[in-house]
Amino acid sequence: MNQADSDIITTLLGNGGYRQASSEEEAGIILLNTCAVRENAVERIAHYLQHLKGVKKRYPDLLVGLSGCIPQYRRETLFDDFPLLDFLAGPDTYRALPSLIAEAASGCRRVSRLDFDTSETYVGVEPSRSATLSAFVPVMRGCNNMCAFCVVPFTRGRERSHPTEAVLNEVRALSESGCREITLLGQNVNSYRDPAAGTDFSRLLDAVSREVPGIRIRFTTSHPKDMSCSLAETMAARPNICNHIHLPVQSGSTRMLGRMNRGHTIEEYRDRIGMIRNMIPGISFSTDLIAGFCGETEDDHRKTLELMRDIRFDSAFMFYYSVRPGTPAARTMHDDVSEDVKKRRLQEIIDLQNSISSELFGEAVGTVVEVLAETESRRSSLQLMGRTETNRVVVFDRGRHSPGDLVRVKITGSSSATLRGEALPDY
Ligand code: SAM
Ligand code: SF4
Repeated sequence: MNQADSDIITTLLGNGGYRQASSEEEAGIILLNTCAVRENAVERIAHYLQHLKGVKKRYPDLLVGLSGCIPQYRRETLFDDFPLLDFLAGPDTYRALPSLIAEAASGCRRVSRLDFDTSETYVGVEPSRSATLSAFVPVMRGCNNMCAFCVVPFTRGRERSHPTEAVLNEVRALSESGCREITLLGQNVNSYRDPAAGTDFSRLLDAVSREVPGIRIRFTTSHPKDMSCSLAETMAARPNICNHIHLPVQSGSTRMLGRMNRGHTIEEYRDRIGMIRNMIPGISFSTDLIAGFCGETEDDHRKTLELMRDIRFDSAFMFYYSVRPGTPAARTMHDDVSEDVKKRRLQEIIDLQNSISSELFGEAVGTVVEVLAETESRRSSLQLMGRTETNRVVVFDRGRHSPGDLVRVKITGSSSATLRGEALPDY
């Protein structure tokens, strides 16, 4: 979502007469577009601002600004904590950036625009993407859920969906520019509703897949409580929708899901995965997991490991819980799992996921998969890197193929993160 927002910001600044600098030294303005979802994202920005203090000493006219979730969230203290900052804009006020910069350049100090605007979707602002084989297309902004640990509802505001027609125009334009894979993007795409017709995400997904039948379609993120049967039916029916779902579960314990306010039980989660696997054989699942949320016991943690063994996710984003001030958990619960225990549980989760991924990837050796080649591999120009429909990374001997080709690849080896193979000549 940050990448997609940065592309919008680049367009808005371009329209305002600014152009991208090639280095820190060349830049007259440095703008950091930020994420606040975990404490370490915030710490990284703080480190970078520390570094910019030195740069600003050398170039006193340099303007430094923050946009996105951190300013929205820490508006009261940011200017005092980081006196080098000149301007701030939130996720709904990127359009104000050219005028904020102009004000700061004219000598006004500490200028900001941080109001929420529930009508702002940036529809019509064509994101500035360099010619790309794979692109993110936001279909909604904001989130109406209130997961106890999560800051997103407080930084990005209420949910609002883009009109279906606007999404279709964007994917058509991407297809015409040579794009081969599109990921529809939202905090909870399952609660998408077309603003005029009220149609749901499965209808949007169906329409997109028909609009650009030669392009692979992915989507993220799905919330398990809203993951519908009709969405799985659409996936099963449309050949260009990839057989992969990112379905964050956060914890394997129903008790913890209740504390997190996720709105479903573990049994419901398991049933949903079972239902989808029946409808779409061979589909892969990935997930998000949080270790050490408030009140998590060893028994809750054991249930998470148990769930992972049963479901066998292809991959997972794994984090330990960090308190986000202002969230329901920060206001009403104790962060009572010690850092050592959080880190130990997280390591157990990571180790287990690595071994599950290794097993699953090992089982793929000897099979033939279809890969969309994305780039040359980092190690050798004789190899390409791409992904299977199920979102597995494959590095393969390229033969006569180039990025952008759909290639049949025979899998010859694997690790916990990558498959290796060779392009079959007859494709
Ligand atoms: N909307 C998506 C959903 O509901 O699954 C997730 C969006 S959130 C930006 C991405 C992931 O960050 C979450 O799924 C969760 O695992 C993790 N996360 C969010 N808040 C966190 C926190 N306070 N501490 C640790 N991880 C957190
Ligand atoms: Fe955060 Fe929950 Fe919304 Fe996801 S669904 S963005 S975790 S509040």
